[in-house]
Amino acid sequence: MEATMTRGGEPASALAIALAQLDAAADRLGLDEGLRRYLRVPRRVLQVAVPVIRDDGSLVVYTGYRVQHNMARGPAKGGIRYHPEVSMDEVIALAMWMTWKCAVVNIPFGGAKGGVVCNPKELSRGELERLTRRFAAEISFIIGPERDIPAPDVYTDAQVMAWVMDTYSTLAGRSVPAVVTGKPVELGGSQGRQEATSRGCVVCIAAAAERLGLRLEGARAVVQGFGNVGATAARLLAERGCRVVGVSDSSGGLYRPAGLDVAAVEAYKRRHGHLVDFPEAESVSNEELLELPCEILVPAALGNVLTAERAPRIQARLIAEGANGPTTPEADRIFFERGIVVLPDILANAGGVTVSYFEWVQGLQEYFWTEDQVNHELNKRMEQSLAQVWDLAQTEKVDLRTAAYMIALRRVADAVKWRGIYP
Ligand code: NAD
Repeated sequence: MEATMTRGGEPASALAIALAQLDAAADRLGLDEGLRRYLRVPRRVLQVAVPVIRDDGSLVVYTGYRVQHNMARGPAKGGIRYHPEVSMDEVIALAMWMTWKCAVVNIPFGGAKGGVVCNPKELSRGELERLTRRFAAEISFIIGPERDIPAPDVYTDAQVMAWVMDTYSTLAGRSVPAVVTGKPVELGGSQGRQEATSRGCVVCIAAAAERLGLRLEGARAVVQGFGNVGATAARLLAERGCRVVGVSDSSGGLYRPAGLDVAAVEAYKRRHGHLVDFPEAESVSNEELLELPCEILVPAALGNVLTAERAPRIQARLIAEGANGPTTPEADRIFFERGIVVLPDILANAGGVTVSYFEWVQGLQEYFWTEDQVNHELNKRMEQSLAQVWDLAQTEKVDLRTAAYMIALRRVADAVKWRGIYP
């Protein structure tokens, strides 16, 4: 599976980036060539047609995907994304990243991802429900609590998960809450799941800042993306004393050097559905936002935003990847040379899948934890994972991404070796 490169030699797609990252860590580990070939390709790729009757009676057919990359360490796990730019290659890359993410934080899952090519902002609630139910029905024969467990991702949420769970349960003839995570708490969702990705990200930021001698109190933070991950990360950073000077969503960015009132920005977004025109802040484009003066930068929207072209202009000391795949390999090299520390996605945003794992465990045991217990277990696992990655990066003299991949690849490769290749 080869993916395209740009003329400058930069990988052009999420899949090209994922493969370049895998190769760099495999080279460093001296991974067996056969195993490398095996891990470079997804185990299963399902493409489905999703016919939906729109409210005006017309029939529209959307395309959906579910990809399972590797299941050597356990059932596959990964979100479902609704976005007009979803493609099969992107879903494969995201599934691969899930394999490594689950392995870095050492939870017993493999990697999967799903997506539907659509613009959910143009769909009514009824259309969104019909699209979700049909997509869930089409992928129902490859998902399941012991096979593959979806969760929310870009433009999907607890309501979408509840529809997936209900559709799967209806087809199965019994209630199967463990088929998804990120469910509403009323249906067996976990306390703390909604905030988990951002909480894990901020725990990593705090642990890395301590190692770098960077005080969070008063540190300037910029967050791109103001959805589930970005808005909560901004709020948690502000709670830790950071000055959140810049935020953005798809409508554009806001900049206030004295610091934004994150709660007021959240309230504005809830009321108006977008950030632009928020009073008491300068407007900036999403591109300008990334280059603002700050100590901490959290890309928490889409992939491929920190490129070789932009990397020399980034002013942050610490970048925490809330989003999946925001940094290209060439930008990674530039950041490493410039001494800018990048907390890689497979570690920095693994808090979500970690609490998804806790949700799955609670559901199977029918015994539910308090939010304090969930957060305590999450913090512990994130801190341990960060410490392992940090220490390996120091001894191997590599960046944190390569170190995280080395840990993940080793764990997955060991599981594959123990299981052997069927037949
Ligand atoms: P979301 O749908 O809740 O929010 C996405 C945000 O990005 C929105 O504010 C949207 O306006 C903004 N956005 C969209 N296009 C943009 C653009 N071109 N420029 C700037 N902002 C833009 O999604 P989310 O769940 O917060 O996911 C965000 C990222 O985090 C994704 O990369 C996702 O894969 C990753 N992630 C999410 C989770 C999770 O638990 N939700 C876990 C791990 C990783």
